Amino acid sequence: MTGKILVIYAGGTIGMQASETGYVPAAGFEQRLRDQLGARVAQLPTFDMLELQQLIDSANLQPHHWTELANIIVQHWQQYDGFVLLHGTDTMAYSASMLSFMLQGMDKPVIVTGSQIPLAALRNDALDNLLTALTFAAEAAIAEVCICFNGRLLRGNRATKVKSAALNAFDSPNDDYLAQVGINITLHAERLLPAGSAHFSIPELASEAVVVLPIYPGLSAHTARAILSDNVVRGCVLHTYGAGNPPDANVELMMLLQEAIERGVSIVNVTQCLQGEVSQGAYATGATLNRIGVIPGGDLTLEAAFTKLHYLIATQSAAAVSELMVKPLCGEMS
Ligand code: ASP
Repeated sequence: MTGKILVIYAGGTIGMQASETGYVPAAGFEQRLRDQLGARVAQLPTFDMLELQQLIDSANLQPHHWTELANIIVQHWQQYDGFVLLHGTDTMAYSASMLSFMLQGMDKPVIVTGSQIPLAALRNDALDNLLTALTFAAEAAIAEVCICFNGRLLRGNRATKVKSAALNAFDSPNDDYLAQVGINITLHAERLLPAGSAHFSIPELASEAVVVLPIYPGLSAHTARAILSDNVVRGCVLHTYGAGNPPDANVELMMLLQEAIERGVSIVNVTQCLQGEVSQGAYATGATLNRIGVIPGGDLTLEAAFTKLHYLIATQSAAAVSELMVKPLCGEMS
């Protein structure tokens, strides 16, 4: 264990307080935390806190927030040995994924956490999640973006929120946990990404550049056109059935996808299943997507596919987007 940690509070339930309209993010988190910890703070890794001016319920997260969060981390990179980001759970997996792409080559831990019950409540998961996150943020062997939640350390770009009303809200169905916390902490060092050499360049993102097109029985070309036709759209995550299957009998829909690809939209196929991967071509329906140039997304989560596409579109040529989407950049796919 080493060093000094920067804890960044961006919003989310962990720091919320009750209002007449329900929970809202509340400023002054550091004081509330230090009041609760009292003299026990001396047993923790040393940390400073930075609270964002505009705290958000993460349901309100926008792509520009990722650039802002990454820039805050990069601005403080040299002064700290690790980072904890306190974030709402609703879009935590999106933010952890995007930060993993923006901070590629990192050589320190960035641990994202939050809670299902606010710190302000007598019985809560906030303190435990925060203390465990601080412990991992002080662990020099970790050089990646992780989600720490309910005694599990997950690779950020493999994680997804699987439960809306349970304390074990996050899982990584296609990847092993990086650490588990019980009476003892078991860190699986052999599963961690190697440290890189940090040279960050954080892109600005065009907020409407990437869309998600969910496949469902009855999806019409008309509806898909409304999603894809705006010329600000440069990427689309196609959220398909099972092994990556679309309704290929809908010829108009398939032609619409093909036309979008021909005008330069990168379409990436990921499965709606929680576990497993797309195998475009296992079924004739999926093979249609190979024919029209849809990029197979392997076992990427929706969150990782969406953020990777955003990141690559902001930083690469269209040809490089197709090439890099199918390669693991920082542990996000097998
Ligand atoms: N709506 C909250 C948020 O994402 C939920 C949470 O933090 O658990 O900010």
